[in-house]
Amino acid sequence: MTVKIGISSSIVEEGRLSTALDNVFALNEMNVLPFVLPNLSQAKARDYVEELDGILLTGGGDINPALFHEEPHPALGSITPERDWFELALAQAAIARNRPVLAICRGMQILAIAGGGDMYQDLSSQYEKPLIQHRQIAPRYYGSHRLILNQQSLLASLTKGKEMMVNSYHHQAVREVPNLFQATAWTSDGVIEAIERQDGVFQIGVQWHPEHMNDSISSALFSAFVEACKSSKRTSPAS
Ligand code: MN
Repeated sequence: MTVKIGISSSIVEEGRLSTALDNVFALNEMNVLPFVLPNLSQAKARDYVEELDGILLTGGGDINPALFHEEPHPALGSITPERDWFELALAQAAIARNRPVLAICRGMQILAIAGGGDMYQDLSSQYEKPLIQHRQIAPRYYGSHRLILNQQSLLASLTKGKEMMVNSYHHQAVREVPNLFQATAWTSDGVIEAIERQDGVFQIGVQWHPEHMNDSISSALFSAFVEACKSSKRTSPAS
């Protein structure tokens, strides 16, 4: 059974859209048709969710704080409003329709906001406790910091309960976890590194970049996402 998975993209410069090819290749299995989604209207975002079997919310730049009703913090970086509003609508529709979602880094923050949570615009000036390094200078595939896992989670099942090492490229992070979700991984400083739906729907946000890591847990995470898209397609009424 072929499943259609939408991959969010970004307007990086006027007239062009982009997404890391690792996002496409991580999903390019025989029975997956990957679609790269342009930053169109919120209505089109909802239409995409109707047509597709799952959504990959990809990593990228900073998020417009207007999405969660805050003023811009002085340390906020450059934002892409078209992308922010489009991805917010994608995530809201996916939550409402129980579509499988894998949300990476910035995508995890979008997923949290879509569910009613919020985020730190800048960890280093807003986080209450001392931080470890979350913007690694090591190579992209390298797992530079350790995660502590909620043992009742998909991540714990993928890692068989063991700790995991992940890469880290963020200065923003989820602050308030929305009601439908729970935090399932943290770094030793307490920063939330993963959220998952509590009711069994496959919607998971990870603060790291599994698409850049060549380890068995990252592969297992992408495979679990594709499997969830397949079973969601089986159980959805035919359209
Ligand atoms: Mn991190």
